[in-house]
Amino acid sequence: MIRATIKQFEEKALKGEGLSCAEGCALINLPDNCIFDILASSEKVRTFFKGNEVNLCSIINAKSGLCHEDCIFCSQSVHYDTGVKTYPMTEPQTIVETAKAASQNGAREFSIVTSGTSVNKDSDVAILAEALKKMQGETQMERCASLGIMNAETLQKLKDAGLQSYHHNLETARSFFPNVCTTHDYEEDVNTIKTARRLGLYTCCGGVFGLGESREQRVELAVTLRELDVDSIPINFLNPRPGTPLENAAHLTPLECLKIIALFRFMLPAKDIVICGGRQVNLRDMQCLIFAAGANGMMIGNYLTTMGRPPEEDLRMVKDLGLKPRRP
Ligand code: SF4
Repeated sequence: MIRATIKQFEEKALKGEGLSCAEGCALINLPDNCIFDILASSEKVRTFFKGNEVNLCSIINAKSGLCHEDCIFCSQSVHYDTGVKTYPMTEPQTIVETAKAASQNGAREFSIVTSGTSVNKDSDVAILAEALKKMQGETQMERCASLGIMNAETLQKLKDAGLQSYHHNLETARSFFPNVCTTHDYEEDVNTIKTARRLGLYTCCGGVFGLGESREQRVELAVTLRELDVDSIPINFLNPRPGTPLENAAHLTPLECLKIIALFRFMLPAKDIVICGGRQVNLRDMQCLIFAAGANGMMIGNYLTTMGRPPEEDLRMVKDLGLKPRRP
C-alpha cells in the first residue's frame, strides 16, 4: 500500500507536476522504515530531470557579524553573544582569489555572502561590483551573491557588473517565521526574490530545517517556493551555534534530513536542489544518500561561520557514486 502510494508520487513528479500539499504531507509523514522505497523513487526523479551531474558551489563570508536582525539560528546577529568574528566588506581582490581557489577545488558557482539586513552603502556596492567584474574576467565561475533584502536599483547595478544569480532564503514557512525572526517581515524576503526574478537573475531560495517547524510547515515552505517559481532550493539543516537561542536544539536525524530532501524533489521535481549548511553534522555517515534523496548539488568548502570538510572528500564521494561535477 505504502509502496503503491510512493510509486504514484514518483509518476506524478516524473510528469513534472509536483505533489499537492496533502500529498507532500503524506510523504514527509511516512515512517522511517520506508526510506529506501522513498529514495528509490526520488533517485529516479532526480536522474530524469538532472542526469548524473551535480552542481558544486562555494561561498565567501565577505562581511561578517553585526547584523541587526534577530534570526534565532544565526551567530552573526548582534542580539546574541556568540563571539563570531566581525569584519567589514572584504576587498575585491580577496574575493576573487577566494573564488579562484574554490574553482580549483571543483566549485562551479561562487557566491559572495554578506551579513546584515541588506547592502546599501555605495562603497560596499562598488566593492561588490568590482569583485563581480573581476570574477567575470578572471574565472569561468557562475557569479552569485547573497546580500539580504535588496531593491531593484542596486540589484540591477550588480547585474550590470556581472551578477548572474541571487540567493536569498525565506528560512522557513510563512506561518513559522515569527518564531524565527521578529525584526523584518516575511514579505520583504518574498519581494526580494520577486525583484531578482523580474530582473532576470537565476533565483536561489530555500531555508533552514530543524528550527522547531512542523513537518507540515516544511511542506508549506515548498508550496511557497513553487509559487515563487525559484530556480534553485538551498537546503540547510540547523547546526546549533553556541550563544544563539537554538544552541541546545537537537540535530535532525539523518533519515529526517533525507525525507526533507525527497519532499522538495517530489514537490519541485525539475528544480535544482542544493544541500548546504549542516550537512556533515546532521547526516553524518549518510551524506552520500543526499543525491538518491533528490539533491543535484551541494556546497563544498567552508560555510559562513563553520568549517566544512575538505573538498577532496566531497569530490571523491561524487565520483564514487558515479556522478560528475557540472562544469561552468
Ligand atoms: S541570517 Fe542573515 S539576516 Fe538573519 S541574523 Fe544572520 S546575517 Fe542577519
